[in-house]
Amino acid sequence: MYFTDIPGLEETKNKLRKSIVENKIAHAQLFYGKEGCAKLPLSIAYARYLNCEKREKTDSCGHCMSCLKYDKLSHPDLHFVFPTVKKSSTKISISDNDVLRWREEVTANPYITIEEWIETYGSENKTGKKGMIYKDEAVSIVEKTRLKNYESKYRVFLIWLPELMNLDASNKLLKIIEEPPSGTVFLFVSKQPEELIATVSSRLQKIKIRNFYLEEIKWFFKDYEKKELNINYLVNLTKGNVGKIKKIINDKTEHLAFFDSFSSWMRLAYKMNVLDLTNWVNSIAQTGRNNQKLFLEYAIKMIRECVLVNFTDPSLARVSEKEKQFVLNFSPFVHEKNSISIFEELEGAYKSIGRNANPKIIFFDLSLKIGKCLKVKRKFAQNK
Ligand SMILES: [Zn+2]
Repeated sequence: MYFTDIPGLEETKNKLRKSIVENKIAHAQLFYGKEGCAKLPLSIAYARYLNCEKREKTDSCGHCMSCLKYDKLSHPDLHFVFPTVKKSSTKISISDNDVLRWREEVTANPYITIEEWIETYGSENKTGKKGMIYKDEAVSIVEKTRLKNYESKYRVFLIWLPELMNLDASNKLLKIIEEPPSGTVFLFVSKQPEELIATVSSRLQKIKIRNFYLEEIKWFFKDYEKKELNINYLVNLTKGNVGKIKKIINDKTEHLAFFDSFSSWMRLAYKMNVLDLTNWVNSIAQTGRNNQKLFLEYAIKMIRECVLVNFTDPSLARVSEKEKQFVLNFSPFVHEKNSISIFEELEGAYKSIGRNANPKIIFFDLSLKIGKCLKVKRKFAQNK
């Protein structure tokens, strides 16, 4: 991770570089900002620049010994601390146990969310723990600071999501954060700095990282736009969270992105909430015909699932867990008196979009028609 891997944020980058060049390096700093902002990649780029042996004006050189190790995030003077899940297989719970996986995940996606990180524990996390920085971690940090730096001028402790540090760990770190040995720099990277205990927070120099602007987000995904993947739609859906967009693209789970949009659409249509429906229609209208057609295909698929649950096959083997819950709740509203009309309306809209009709008019009209269909009562009570 280099400064140039991150679009925009020039002011922040300049400030960070200047502090290094002028040798005004705070020994404990807090990079903070919302989920999906560049706080983690920027703090890594900063640490790299700090230790680069042939710094250039705007970025690290990329070929000194330090940079080569930073390429793999495996520099011996770069210590990562992050929330972990307590496992029965290991006696102490520290990040070092999981650091290989961490390097891999962060290299692939430095905008990773905590949920995505904890998901990587898979079956090791049997009880569904949410991740924490335990006291063992603080003990390990203090021990490491007693040793000399391996090879570089600065040793960096990069602590991701310190708000998930338990109180014991926080207290244990207080002294070392206040007076670390020379050549030791703590970089705290937080999305909820207000959750840090005040005695820790007050010792940190704060650097706020703003959210990306739309054009900056598009810069990340410029190659995908050529492949007709609708970035505007994903930006809307994720509220501009770069990490989530990357994940959706990597997992090829655009259909999951459709799920959120579809489920809220059905709710709004049923309630005939015209104002919110208009907003929804405006956002889908911006996403391009190809995407709108895919969305309608998805809607047809979901309505079909509701019909199947009601009449033939309640197994729901073809949908994800998230979709399953929705289908179970929604299927009573789709029945013998209205399902055919709903299919006809969706298919009609699909054809109209293909014929270049105005998507705003099509989707608005469709929403009202489906809302009306959903209000139709069943002839017989469900005999379940
Ligand atoms: Zn270098």
